[in-house]
Amino acid sequence: MLAGLKELMMEAEENRCAVAAFNTPTYDGLLAVIRAAEATETPIIISHAQAHEKVAHLEDIGPVMVHFAKRAKVPVCVHLDHSNSEAYCRKAMDIGFTSIMYDCSMYPYEKNLEMTIPMVALAHSRGVDVESELGQVPRNNLDGICYMRNDPSAYYTDPDEAAAFAEQTGTDALAIAFGTVHGEYAGKPSLNTDVIRKVRQKTTVPLVMHGGSGLSNEQYREVIECGIRKINYHTYLSLEGYRTAVFLTEEEPKGYFHEIAIAAQREMFHHAVNVIRIFSGK
Ligand code: 13P
Repeated sequence: MLAGLKELMMEAEENRCAVAAFNTPTYDGLLAVIRAAEATETPIIISHAQAHEKVAHLEDIGPVMVHFAKRAKVPVCVHLDHSNSEAYCRKAMDIGFTSIMYDCSMYPYEKNLEMTIPMVALAHSRGVDVESELGQVPRNNLDGICYMRNDPSAYYTDPDEAAAFAEQTGTDALAIAFGTVHGEYAGKPSLNTDVIRKVRQKTTVPLVMHGGSGLSNEQYREVIECGIRKINYHTYLSLEGYRTAVFLTEEEPKGYFHEIAIAAQREMFHHAVNVIRIFSGK
């Protein structure tokens, strides 16, 4: 069934766990995570990132996501991930997304605030929840392009700013930066969980961690313990599907394409089940 972001994060707060938010730019990835949520009887968030427009257009994949969320036996939030375009956010709301991330974290604090306030008002007037970001989570793309190579602590979220931002914008969830990276980690991930603790002391807004792939179980437990209630997870799930396809084509170079798709879906399902269990503490 279709669910909102705020309700899932409040439930996660009560249960002291985190909701898994999976990016679902492909049909097989989407089915894999919906089935994993049902198999574990756990709510999830399915997300379409504006950066995945080249994989699937929002107007094509969006209605499919809403359809599967409605049909699911567990609550599923349909979320727009990382958009800083008002028109794109409006499109997601028109399609029936229950939540949007309006990401203006690339701008200075004042501009981020100024842009986020009206978007929260607009989304709330349409019954849609909003995630914002303060500080910046760097990106390590698989193509080897790393954005923001400098010292990541320069991008950490400032706890006082987080409190003021949450208060003034009325955002439903806040993504914070404390050392995670989108994509693959170049070395061992080093997280500063004091940032999470300090933000938590200053504000009750539900907190989001981006760059969820590639941490140890111990690190997942620690960030959840510190107050993270939504974890965005994409790269390692996608790598799992890719690895399966490579393995299959090496084993059996000739076959129908759907055999690859089904095998990748099955392995991504198992991967997602594992992720959901760790995040939900089940
Ligand atoms: P990963 O690809 O590192 O798992 O991060 C996903 C993410 O944060 C999407 O917003």
